[in-house]
Amino acid sequence: EGIDNGGGKIVSLSAASHQVLNRRAIIDHKLLTALNRNDLQVVYQPQFDIKSDEVTLFEAFVRWNDDELGYVMPDELIPIAEENGLIHEIGAFVLEEAATLAADWNARKRPVKVAINSSAREFTNPSMKESVLDILEKTECPATYIQLEITEKFAFQAEEEKSISIQMKELQDEGVEFVLDDFGTGFASFRYMQHLPISKIKIDKLFIQSLLTQPKTQQLVDGMIQFGKSMSMYVVAEGVETKEQFDILKKMGVDAVQGYYIGAPVTAEDISI
Ligand code: C2E
Ligand code: MG
Ligand code: MG
Ligand code: MG
Repeated sequence: EGIDNGGGKIVSLSAASHQVLNRRAIIDHKLLTALNRNDLQVVYQPQFDIKSDEVTLFEAFVRWNDDELGYVMPDELIPIAEENGLIHEIGAFVLEEAATLAADWNARKRPVKVAINSSAREFTNPSMKESVLDILEKTECPATYIQLEITEKFAFQAEEEKSISIQMKELQDEGVEFVLDDFGTGFASFRYMQHLPISKIKIDKLFIQSLLTQPKTQQLVDGMIQFGKSMSMYVVAEGVETKEQFDILKKMGVDAVQGYYIGAPVTAEDISI
């Protein structure tokens, strides 16, 4: 119950660091059971397309509300799942829920797409493509209703990178679209773009938050929008919370916006389209 500081005196770990370690271990331990018991949930956030002046897509986010742990949000959950391997099960679960919804909405209501966040790491699994196609078949959801958002959090080995890009290209051939999420904050944007079939970028909310207060941010965002356009990509701004942010982004030429100003993530039952 402590760390030897070298001076022969035992220093105890703070109660807070114990709690963090403990919570992480509990999440790691309970996740599989939670998945099997269907305790995870999916919420959806609208994305507003400027040109058509309507919501054309909903992005899916995983949620887990545990009796003991309370809400376990993705920023906490996903890194643990990436480490223990359950990221594949989470990805499959979220995709199945979202694809079922997209198929239903398109059949009964109007054309609308769904976006699913997937860890690029999921694509290092050689059966990722098959797993995605199986779920689309099972849910009777055309691949063209689906967008997969990936982030640039990792560097990969050459072999892994090959598996990722081959599977992504094959899925793109089937009609799945790929989005580079959190654009501007990762470390490999341009490299990803060189090798991966990306057709859409999402400017990270970090930049949107200081858009109106920092002239430099405005220049950066303007540069990202121009870059996206020069690459014939669809450009989205995420984390748009105010009318002022919406108005300036529209003027700057983004294709779509997402954020609390348009709507917060909610469960499927709370969406009317
Ligand atoms: P992301 O894909 O960039 O999603 C945006 C995050 O910002 C979401 O947080 C969303 O709830 C939140 N957000 C939306 N609008 C606003 C706004 O106007 N202001 C602010 N401050 N925040 C806003 P969330 O749901 O906690 O997810 C965090 C990240 O975790 C996501 O970032 C995504 O990278 C990852 N993630 C979420 N669900 C999944 C999943 O099912 N699978 C995987 N692999 N990753 C996921
Ligand atoms: Mg996303
Ligand atoms: Mg993002
Ligand atoms: Mg993010």
